[in-house]
Amino acid sequence: MTTRSTCPYCGVGCGVLIDTEDGRITNVRGDPEHPANFGRLCTKGSTLHLTASQAITQHARLLHPQLRSTRGEALRRVGWDEALDHAAQQFASTVREHGPDAVGFYVSGQLLTEDYYVFNKLAKGLVGTNNIDTNSRLCMSSAVAGYKLTLGADAPPACYEDVRHADCLFIAGSNAAWAHPVLFRRIEDARAERPGMKVIVCDPRRTATAESADLHLPLQPGTDVMLFNGLLHIMLWEGWTRPDWIARHTSGFEALKARVRECTPEAVARVCGLRQEDLVTAARWFATSPATLSLYCQGLNQSTSGTAKNAALINLHLATAQIGRPGAGPFSLTGQPNAMGGREVGGLANLLSAHRDLANPTHRAEVAALWGVPCVPERPGRTAVEMFQAAADGEIKALWIACTNPAQSMPDQATVRRALERAEFVVVQEAFATTATCEFADLLLPASTWGEKDGTVTNSERRISRVRPAVAAAGEARHDWRIAVDFAQRLEAALRPGAATLFPYATPESIWMEHRESTRGRDLDITGLSYARLDEAPQQWPLPEGAREGRARLYEDGVFPTADGRARFADVGYKPLAEARESRYPFSLITGRLRDQWHGMSRTGTLGRLFGHVPEPVVQLHPQDMERRGWKDGELLQLTSRRASVIVPVAASDSVGLSQAFMGMHWGSEFLGGMGQDGRPIAGVNALTTSDHCPGSKQ
Ligand code: SF4
Repeated sequence: MTTRSTCPYCGVGCGVLIDTEDGRITNVRGDPEHPANFGRLCTKGSTLHLTASQAITQHARLLHPQLRSTRGEALRRVGWDEALDHAAQQFASTVREHGPDAVGFYVSGQLLTEDYYVFNKLAKGLVGTNNIDTNSRLCMSSAVAGYKLTLGADAPPACYEDVRHADCLFIAGSNAAWAHPVLFRRIEDARAERPGMKVIVCDPRRTATAESADLHLPLQPGTDVMLFNGLLHIMLWEGWTRPDWIARHTSGFEALKARVRECTPEAVARVCGLRQEDLVTAARWFATSPATLSLYCQGLNQSTSGTAKNAALINLHLATAQIGRPGAGPFSLTGQPNAMGGREVGGLANLLSAHRDLANPTHRAEVAALWGVPCVPERPGRTAVEMFQAAADGEIKALWIACTNPAQSMPDQATVRRALERAEFVVVQEAFATTATCEFADLLLPASTWGEKDGTVTNSERRISRVRPAVAAAGEARHDWRIAVDFAQRLEAALRPGAATLFPYATPESIWMEHRESTRGRDLDITGLSYARLDEAPQQWPLPEGAREGRARLYEDGVFPTADGRARFADVGYKPLAEARESRYPFSLITGRLRDQWHGMSRTGTLGRLFGHVPEPVVQLHPQDMERRGWKDGELLQLTSRRASVIVPVAASDSVGLSQAFMGMHWGSEFLGGMGQDGRPIAGVNALTTSDHCPGSKQ
């Protein structure tokens, strides 16, 4: 039997065909009819059936609910009723004793849209707290903030097909060759079809993507805003901007012009560590190509200047009218498979359903009316880093973590672990028993996973695809939405006794229908869609009632979703890194994706074949840095940041710049031992990384 579904790994959102036999997944193939991949899969996608095998399920899957009554006690197997009754009683007493903001929900861009919708309603509609945030905060929130600041809405304006129409590709802070491999194949095809296409890659490292570029700009880490403002300076000086288009469709250009006056090629070359002639070439290709498409990801987003970096790049598109045409526009690449869907249902601490803003009283009233609750709380919730800090400070006492592994993936692990220890009640809803966060759980709830789940996801190009079950959930695992509903119904019996349930859902489709209605009249209106229509083919939003198809690209009419219909130039300036290099810390550590691993490896780490590419953690340093210090390949180094040290072998690589270091982001405690500044053992690459974040996006 064959089931159509979607790959769970990245925002490309490739369609897959899952073959099953006797209730077991036997093979996975690319879906030739899915418009994201037309049959192609990368190494991760094409090994999905191996990671879903029975042998792995037995070893790595969480199969039964487990509970401990007190810390220090071992977890014991319990039934679902006991588990959920206990959770509801714990959350209800925390809310009664300390108020709704004493609880927090930390969810995931790997949840399906339907799962996300229920969790968001549970926190904001039932508990009465906006303390719901997600690992998508660490993935895409700077892209969201950048779009809203400049274009007026969180909507990537371009689509994958634009790669074929672009004459210049400007790739910034993205190693698409490894992080979005199937999209990168599209880029290779487009270049083969149109050899005149120019590709510029801005990245401190000479990544596989940078290797393929016509022009690589190996800028110093964190200097992107200076680079983009410098490119605008050159465009203005050379007369490569589009004053007519700017006058008709934008506002705020004069202030930005004044700001970039000081971003001369000399100044930019000095700050960014680049050659002036390369800056001029990049500015010319970007501005004068018939169509320029930007592709960008975590290099811009995960930054204390994340919003400014996104906005400064979009400024370039507005100044040159490179938007709203085939092959032209800014296009953020989503890291996780459903970071887009999470934003659509408003599953973040500062958002509400269907791209509504928590800060807007009309939006709060609209959502309250949709849900049938008196109000939605006004106070902004804690965002990802803030939530764990609040738990570490004793302000959040009950934490519910679903489908994510913060004890490995969050920065500044010492604080995260302090938070998980100090919180009085920690629920971990997980498919895998092997994640570091499971060790901190008072209650472990087994969740279904890819191959078992039913619902929808949205990929980077606003395309909604169906995720379908091919086999039954392992053990006693339940679907994420089902667990949230079963818990919510118990909690509302405690918090709103006698009231009709806010969670009357029997299927994921019934949840999706409520979500669909919430989008009516909004920028992402999908009232013209249904599960039946999605079963025929994945569709891009918006697709309002009566529309024949979704919109491939936005703003073709030059009208933007702002009060005056004009896009806004963002007056943003360069700010140095939060932690600059200095004599005690003479290297900049960059972390990033390895080609064949996914996030914390809970799935890809079960497969020897995927370790063939990079079999163990190493820190890469430039050969000259190693020679100067007398270090040899393979030697063990103690790598120390302001927060912790880890022990790791070193490897020479001239793909990293001088005074820079690179490590894969996936390595957790089972691979990488170390020690915090307090002398306690702590491990994994994120023991080193900083939780400093962008003031605008909180990423
Ligand atoms: Fe899956 Fe992304 Fe690879 Fe496509 S490119 S197969 S979505 S990991």
